Amino acid sequence: MRRAYRGELLHFLRDPRKPGAGPAFEHVPDGLLLVEDGKILAAGPAKTLTRGLSKSVPVRRFGDALLIPGFVDCHVHFPQIDMIASYGEQLLDWLTRHAYPAEARFSDEAHARKASAFFLDELLRNGTTTALVFATSHPHSADALFAAAHRRRMRLVCGKVLMDRNAPKALLDTARSAYRDSQALMRRWHGKGRLSYAVTPRFAPTSSDCQLKVAQRLLEEAPDAYLHTHLSENVREVEWVRALFPGRDYFGVYESYGFARRKAVFAHCVQLSASEWGRLGASGSSAAFCPSSNLFLGSGLFDLELSARHGARVGIGTDIGAGTSLSLLRNLDEAYKVSQLRGRALPPLVAFYLATLGGAEALDLDGSIGSFLPGRDADFIALDWKSTPLLRYRARTARTLEDRLFLLMMLGDDRSVRATVVAGDVAHEAPSHGA
Ligand SMILES: [Zn+2]
Repeated sequence: MRRAYRGELLHFLRDPRKPGAGPAFEHVPDGLLLVEDGKILAAGPAKTLTRGLSKSVPVRRFGDALLIPGFVDCHVHFPQIDMIASYGEQLLDWLTRHAYPAEARFSDEAHARKASAFFLDELLRNGTTTALVFATSHPHSADALFAAAHRRRMRLVCGKVLMDRNAPKALLDTARSAYRDSQALMRRWHGKGRLSYAVTPRFAPTSSDCQLKVAQRLLEEAPDAYLHTHLSENVREVEWVRALFPGRDYFGVYESYGFARRKAVFAHCVQLSASEWGRLGASGSSAAFCPSSNLFLGSGLFDLELSARHGARVGIGTDIGAGTSLSLLRNLDEAYKVSQLRGRALPPLVAFYLATLGGAEALDLDGSIGSFLPGRDADFIALDWKSTPLLRYRARTARTLEDRLFLLMMLGDDRSVRATVVAGDVAHEAPSHGA
C-alpha cells in the first residue's frame, strides 16, 4: 500500500556537532514523504516527487506543518505515570515514598493493562514513536506493555525490573525468578514485530551480586538484547554504591558484570567522572540525558560537552515519573537550561538531532528509525509551528529554520503535535485537525 504525506520536511543524516562529508540534515520547505508497507520509499521536494506519482496514491497534506521522524524517548518508567509530579524529596527518599508504592500497585494485572494503554496513547499524543521503558518487577507488567505496543505496531524496548534487595518486600524478586521470568519474557516478546527486550536491573544498589551475575548471563545468552539501568544520578546514591561495592567506581561495577557494551543504555550519568565517561564511550554504551528529571529531583547537571568529547552516544529520556513531561519538546527546553547552567547553549539543530536520530543511535536503531532515508520505518510526526497564541504571535519574527526550531523547543508541547504516524499509518491526530 503506497501513500504520500506532504509538508515541510526535516531529518538528520548525522550528528551536526561532528565534522563529516555532506550535510548533517536535509530540510525541504515543501516536501513529500512517500511511504510503502510501513517504510519510507522516498523523501524530497514535493515538486519532483509528485511528478512521477500515480493518481491512485493518496496524498495527505499537512500544510505548513513540520514533518520530522518520531521522537525517541531513551529512558522512561511506564508504571510511574501514576505518581508523576509527586512533591518533595531527592532520589533515594523519592523512590521510597513515591515510586515504590506506585510500582507495588502493579501486582494487579488489570491495573498494569490499563496503565499500559494510557501510557502508550500519551506517548503518541506527545509525538514519541519509540521508547526504552522500565516496567515493574512483576513480569505481567512487561507483558501488558508489550502487548499494548504490539497492538499499536510501535517500536518499543522494555524489560521487567530486576530487584532483589534494598527495596520493599512486595517488589523484590530473586536471582532465580529474575532469570526465569526474564527468559520467558524474552522468548515471548524479543524480536516479535517491532519489539525488543531489555534486561533491566533497576540499579546496582537493589541487585545482589548473584542477581547481577544473572543479568550478565541473560545478556550472554541473548547478545542482541538490551541492558537498561540507572547510573550515577545522585551524590548519595553514588556514595551508597561505593559502600556496597568497594574498590570500584559506579561504572566499574557495571563493567565487572559485562554491562559495558553496545545496546547498553545508562540513564542519567550526571555524576560520572571523566574516567568513567571515557570507558563508557569506548565501550559503545549509551547514556540517556533526562533533563526534567535531573532538575526535578535536584540530581545535577548532565555534561553534554563531556559526553560528546568521549564519544558516548546520547539520547533524551523523559524519565517519568521523576521527569515532569512526556513531551520531548518540554524536555529539550529543560536540556537547554541545563546546558546554560553548564556554561553553554544547546543549538536547536543539535537538540532536534538528539530527540530523533541521536536517540535512534543511542538505542542502536538508526538502521531502522530516526531519519527519512529509504527503507527506514515510516514513524514520523507533524509538528504545528503555531499551536498556541504565543507561538503564533512570536513566529511572526522568527526568520531562520533555527529560530523556528528554537521557538518550538522552548514554547512547544503536546499541543504542537498535530499528528503521529506509526509504520505509515496515522496513529494519533489532534482533535482540531482530525476528520
Ligand atoms: Zn529512571
